[in-house]
Amino acid sequence: MADVKVSFLGGARGVGRSSIEISDDSGSIILDSGVNLGGKGRERCPIDPEGEISALILTHAHLDHSGYAPAILSKWDCDLFATPPTVDISEILLRDYLNLVSEDEAKPYNASDITLLRRKEKSIRFGLAMEPIDGWKLIPFNAGHVLGSAMIYLKSPKGVSVLYTGDLNTTNTRTLRGADMNLPEVDYLIIESTYGGDEDIHPSRKKVERKFVEDVEKVLGSGGVVIVPAFALGRSQEVLLTLIHYIESGFLQEVPIFVDGMIREVSKFYSMYWSWLRPELQRRIRESKRGLFDHRAIEEVRNRDELLELSEPFIVITTSGMLQGGPVLTYLKHYGTKRGNLIYLTGYQVRGTRGRLLLDGVRDLQLPDGSSIHIDADVKFADFSAHADQPNLINFISKLWGKGLKEVMLVHGEYDKMIQLRRKLEKRGIRTYIPKLGERITLS
Ligand SMILES: [Zn+2]
Ligand SMILES: [Zn+2]
Repeated sequence: MADVKVSFLGGARGVGRSSIEISDDSGSIILDSGVNLGGKGRERCPIDPEGEISALILTHAHLDHSGYAPAILSKWDCDLFATPPTVDISEILLRDYLNLVSEDEAKPYNASDITLLRRKEKSIRFGLAMEPIDGWKLIPFNAGHVLGSAMIYLKSPKGVSVLYTGDLNTTNTRTLRGADMNLPEVDYLIIESTYGGDEDIHPSRKKVERKFVEDVEKVLGSGGVVIVPAFALGRSQEVLLTLIHYIESGFLQEVPIFVDGMIREVSKFYSMYWSWLRPELQRRIRESKRGLFDHRAIEEVRNRDELLELSEPFIVITTSGMLQGGPVLTYLKHYGTKRGNLIYLTGYQVRGTRGRLLLDGVRDLQLPDGSSIHIDADVKFADFSAHADQPNLINFISKLWGKGLKEVMLVHGEYDKMIQLRRKLEKRGIRTYIPKLGERITLS
């Protein structure tokens, strides 16, 4: 059996710049090529691959998985394997990212390189096998994380099989079905472990939503403004649908919900790719004959200055989700510095980002323009997670272990959480490895 080599080019013992190279005699495949939004300089990008790259596969459009893809496609004449929503959404998120890279930092690629995604695209669909390079088999499965997100099953010509989860959510959300659990037998599993820690047990989505809505209602009731920093893809749509649901059922007063940043543009793809959403939602769209986010309370921000002069309560959902850039900084400056308002973080905050600082209790924040602000608004966190928690990760892994899995490799997580997850898995007799950044291992 010819050996398969796996190199961990990024996203090992940390979250950000996910990238893995898988190769054998017939060629090299890159699984994800992301950037680290909390990193600086060269640390923003993954390590360069060793082999001649023949194929790039993207699991989903989040920048920590796709942010470096144009650089790979411009350097190597390789095909891009990704679902149609991933290609379309990556394209606009990458443009936005390139604009946000500050002037004094070297841009990792040009705007024209982003067009390579579409030019090199080979569409993949859940359950349909393809051949990314000669003799290799690729089958994508639903990962349940964001619109179009896929787990990638690969089998080498000599029969070594690997499943890479990308980001994984095993439970249903408002927009998506949880990840496929009906998977083929596999020799090696490379799995994310963002919420792999012993403390990581997500409360039910219903509980999270109710608490979120109660907190929002309280602030609106006393005339405050609620800022919801959210990732343009995934979290924003979940938050919008939650707000619409509670307004329609009378639990939340109807105030204007402003949407700023890339969210509006990304949300359009939820309507375009409605057949990728969970069946209940598909039926609702067909029955109501209106777009998912067509609601009188939801307004696009056309003039940000007007919003800054508004004296009545409102909600603004805006990018970036970790406060690294984008319109959210304007709202932070104006509304975040005032008592009585509320900043509601909704997603995982990578170490080194302003969102993480805020979550960790820091209230003096440095802005990209060099100025600093003091946050007097209340800060809360809602666990609208799109990642499996520790019990769900263990359950997912155990199912594959029962079907002949040889070893699990943990990526995309903080090292201390990975150790906690490994301890739990090894107690169950599951062989678990935590690769280091840059490490190259051989699978046979
Ligand atoms: Zn993601
Ligand atoms: Zn990720």
